[in-house]
Amino acid sequence: MKKDTILTGIRVNGELTLGNFLGALLPMVRLANKHSSDHNINIFVPDLHTIIASVDGDLQKNLVKTIKYYLAAGLELGENVHFYRQSYVPAHSELTWILDCFAHMGEMRRMIQYKEKSDGDKDTANVGVFNYPVLMAADILLYSAKFIPVGEDQFQHLELTRDLAMRFNRKFDTEIFTVPAPTHEQVKFMNLSDGLRIRDLVNPEKKMSKSSPNEKAKILLSDDPEVAAKKIMSATTDSLGRVQFDMFNQPGVSNLLQILALLRDEPLESVVNAYAGETQYGDLKAAVATEVKLFLSDFQARVAEISDAKVSTLLTTGETYANEVAGAKLLEVQKAVGLR
Ligand code: ATP
Ligand code: MG
Repeated sequence: MKKDTILTGIRVNGELTLGNFLGALLPMVRLANKHSSDHNINIFVPDLHTIIASVDGDLQKNLVKTIKYYLAAGLELGENVHFYRQSYVPAHSELTWILDCFAHMGEMRRMIQYKEKSDGDKDTANVGVFNYPVLMAADILLYSAKFIPVGEDQFQHLELTRDLAMRFNRKFDTEIFTVPAPTHEQVKFMNLSDGLRIRDLVNPEKKMSKSSPNEKAKILLSDDPEVAAKKIMSATTDSLGRVQFDMFNQPGVSNLLQILALLRDEPLESVVNAYAGETQYGDLKAAVATEVKLFLSDFQARVAEISDAKVSTLLTTGETYANEVAGAKLLEVQKAVGLR
């Protein structure tokens, strides 16, 4: 029987944040370790998505580092675990063009990420910002991936991927594309009750983003652990004076509780209960700061042990596999639309 595929990718425009780690990287590593005996685990570096945001000299460096991060986070390697770079598999670009011809301007314009990222400069935002959800659909559909563990900010793009796949299948009366699981099933598969959104430390109304210009707003995986602890100590909270999990009214405090629970791998409830009745946020902040410091020192030591050569070997092997799978799917699509 054909194995289902679990697929993930993180853009490498800059250093990853704790939000990327807790929201995307760690859940993927856990899923991979749990399912790699009977699923394909595809972890790719979306280098083509990366150049939407920045074209700088750090892409190669960041790319290697990101793969090391997966290994340092505990990913167990095996014959079903595949690493590859998107631009080394030309089928991604080719399928994007074909899918572009099936995507509607109206649905694309409704993408929240597009609206946010092009905010204020609709005329000068690059076309990649507008079009990248279609590239993301190609990334997923080429490998018939069913589960794509992403943070909540990417759910709308997953829905678009489902729509494009179903539209294409219907039009050609085929089942060429595997339709990814709907978001509520994705969340369940990730063992989460909801999508995860780690907040910006300065403005907890917003999510933590690696592209945020404010260094104090984000914990980077490469941050000096002491500096990171200070960022937590100065995180924005509120003046309500009660520790409880309420993302709507107390996003800052709730974010700290969330981070603590995830880093300790404890249920959120028990972390919240431990602080019940406290009217000051100092203890909670200190506990989170300590946990973040420990996490970063340990994680960074593990990253340092992984060689570039190891990453190189993983990529070469993975790209042979990816080109085979993606190439075969692209050919099916080309035949369906009449190009072959
Ligand atoms: P950028 O500002 O460049 O968009 P980002 O931090 O949003 O950076 P992405 O590369 O867009 O990172 O997303 C990588 C993965 O991390 C996605 O799966 C996304 O859902 C997840 N992710 C990003 N930010 C958070 C966050 N604050 N909390 C949880 N998950 C997140
Ligand atoms: Mg993002």
